[in-house]
Amino acid sequence: MQAINIAVDGPSGAGKSTLARRLAAKLGYIYVDTGAMYRAIAYHTLRCHAEDEAAVMELLPVIHVTLKYSDGVQRVLLNGEDVSEVIRTPEVSMAASRVSAIPAVREHLLGMQRQLAAEQSVVMDGRDIGTVVLPDAQVKIFLTASAEKRAERRFLELEQKQPGVQTYEEVLADVIRRDKQDTEREIAPLRQAEDAVLVDTTNADLDQSEEMMLAVCREKLGI
Ligand code: C5P
Repeated sequence: MQAINIAVDGPSGAGKSTLARRLAAKLGYIYVDTGAMYRAIAYHTLRCHAEDEAAVMELLPVIHVTLKYSDGVQRVLLNGEDVSEVIRTPEVSMAASRVSAIPAVREHLLGMQRQLAAEQSVVMDGRDIGTVVLPDAQVKIFLTASAEKRAERRFLELEQKQPGVQTYEEVLADVIRRDKQDTEREIAPLRQAEDAVLVDTTNADLDQSEEMMLAVCREKLGI
């Protein structure tokens, strides 16, 4: 049976991971969070104080990122160590955005992302899934929301986990800076694939957003 591939791209804070996870659960597919792979590499480079591109590239051969699933939940392993939680800090977010602009880092992860999607039906989220990683995906969704709304959601999420770490204004500045880095980089920049359907969640809650995404899948897959 042919694997079904659903690509979900968009800027940070649009609700991609939560919604892609929910969509995968609804459809019975595997959820693949490619941002977590970049985060794991970034975390390793921070730990090793690899500050410039040359230092990051030198580390790459000894960085092994793998995904493991237990009860449908994705865990990210860095050289065997479960880093799923520690890669969620603002510092790692910025570092992930930086290392992801290095071509060798993208190359390092590309084969693995494609293999995962070839072996099973997936909902894969990231920045370049519909444009570069899975150009033949049966469904492509570009998920977005205003920068203010995305910052508000990120801020509330951070406040729950680590209260007082960043103010709303700092989160908004990070969102804008990361958008700029992700859309203006030369390699695999964040952009909507021509055949992707735009889903704007600025004025939608999670249930409504999920419904909009399901509607796109139903139409494209005839399910
Ligand atoms: O999605 P998340 O915020 O976890 O991604 C962290 C960073 O990794 C993003 O800001 C982006 O720079 C990078 N990324 C990427 N390509 C992907 C997924 C994430 O460049 N497919």
